[in-house]
Amino acid sequence: ARDKLAALRDVPSATRDGVDIDLHANIELPIELSAALENGATGIGLLRSEFMFMNKDYLPDEDEQYEELADIVKRMDGKPVTIRTLDIGGEKLAVALQSEIASGPNPALGLRGIRLSLRKSELLEVQFAAILRASLHGPVRVLIPMVVGVHEMTRARQIYETVAKRLRKEGHAIPETLPPLGAMIEIPAAAIAIDTLSRECDFFAIGTNDLTQYTLAIDRTDDQVAGLYDPLNPAVLRLIRDVIRVAGERDIPVSVCGEMAGDPRYVPLFIGFGLRNLSMSPVNLLPVKQRLRRLDTRNSHHQANRVMEQWDSARIAMMLDDFNDLA
Ligand code: PEP
Ligand code: MG
Repeated sequence: ARDKLAALRDVPSATRDGVDIDLHANIELPIELSAALENGATGIGLLRSEFMFMNKDYLPDEDEQYEELADIVKRMDGKPVTIRTLDIGGEKLAVALQSEIASGPNPALGLRGIRLSLRKSELLEVQFAAILRASLHGPVRVLIPMVVGVHEMTRARQIYETVAKRLRKEGHAIPETLPPLGAMIEIPAAAIAIDTLSRECDFFAIGTNDLTQYTLAIDRTDDQVAGLYDPLNPAVLRLIRDVIRVAGERDIPVSVCGEMAGDPRYVPLFIGFGLRNLSMSPVNLLPVKQRLRRLDTRNSHHQANRVMEQWDSARIAMMLDDFNDLA
């Protein structure tokens, strides 16, 4: 079975009716890059930049971050790399920041992601500078985590443009057109008001891990409620469906990059919603490709509509298991 999967590496990722689907990799550590390429990733849909801050008792400066990011962009050899700015706080910690940010009573609802980056904007300035310089080596996109609303994107973009100006003044070569700046859609507020975010976002990446956690108010790391964590809850699915629809109407590229995207069972649902870009752990790339090559987009659309008429997620799970496009 593994050989069969390996044979899929170089075949196009397209549905049975010939619709191309981008399968990107989520990368947490640079060491995963080779697995992504070996499994046929056509880009990196989520580079979690936290690795540059972990296991260090100091904050990496612009040059150090630039070196690490440029190396990854070069190794991807012209394939797009979506670099997410620091998503630290909550359950993710960095030694060098621990002394400065107290962990609040409820870290998941506390100072994390873009909130922290805007509070300590020098963090964001250094990251943007490193990313902009790395973007000279290949196509890059810049992704902002934990966005609640358009105000954060407006502020982030101001800083982004100021940093670009500074770099040019200092004589650094950076691309004339700045890389696209987009938002993670992983907080219900952002998903619900997705039309307002469209004005400030060049692309969206739906983070189903946090979107599920915040929509259902379930902390997955809490054993007492972890069993209730359910990405197939109809409320979560509606948010995902609506974000994909609005993005489509406004011609804004959208991807899904949470764990759900790497589960072959959910592929018909996403394709049926109109999604054409999924990003996942490298190990899931080939199983997902295998699944989508058997799908027909119109049939998937029909199936997705049927799923969305359901209110019981156990029933939804059963329906997804039953869908068989080999007909
Ligand atoms: C998510 O929340 O779905 C996501 C992809 O981000 P992370 O898992 O890094 O929080
Ligand atoms: Mg997240």
